[in-house]
Amino acid sequence: MVRISEIFHSIQGEGKLSGTPSVFVRTSGCNLRCWFCDTRYASWEPEGDTLSVSSILDRVDAFPCDHVVITGGEPAIFDEIGEVVQSCKARRKHVTIETAGTVDRDWDCDLWSISPKLSNSTPIGMASDEWVRNHDLRRHAPQVVESLMESSLNRQADYQLKFVVGSILDAEEVLEYLGELHAWDRDRVMMMPRGTTAEELQLHSTWLPSWCRTHGVRYCDRQHIYWFGNTRGT
Ligand code: SF4
Repeated sequence: MVRISEIFHSIQGEGKLSGTPSVFVRTSGCNLRCWFCDTRYASWEPEGDTLSVSSILDRVDAFPCDHVVITGGEPAIFDEIGEVVQSCKARRKHVTIETAGTVDRDWDCDLWSISPKLSNSTPIGMASDEWVRNHDLRRHAPQVVESLMESSLNRQADYQLKFVVGSILDAEEVLEYLGELHAWDRDRVMMMPRGTTAEELQLHSTWLPSWCRTHGVRYCDRQHIYWFGNTRGT
């Protein structure tokens, strides 16, 4: 059984599959507490019904769509999501898993979309001391991220690394982070501006694209914010 906050059909707004119509399965619950989390109903204050794997699949099957995105919260904390992935693959669907990369899983998805959390994510003054400590102990797990990257490539699947940045210091921290990985592909590194409104995102578009050009990594906007705003079910 997995707590699910929502299952809906929309268009992927981030990463290399941006623009792709997809069914989104949003698990509810997270082992982190990023202060800027824009899905608090699936992390800080988890909501939703607890569903069996077969009932999740029934809801996914209700949409005639070849792409499934399993997101959260943090889907990797639920063992049963492995079964959901396997069953979607058996239905010949393309499966993306969006994760912060703190829990190692050898699941047979097509795309691991990994968003490691930087020091800019710690909820100082916004969460209990225990959660601040847990967040900082868990968020930085480059060994897990490497394992997910390796397992995807070993299976001829794919990965992308999406970093949420709100300043030049954050961007520089990404370079340090990448220095901790043994191997990574520049073409799979994406810098994503932090923001939940078009205005906030546009502010970062004044410096982040040129930073990406200088460092040879991708700029990755949050297109769904422009298309739909920061609303549920999109
Ligand atoms: S890892 Fe993602 S879902 Fe969890 S608190 Fe951070 S932003 Fe929210």
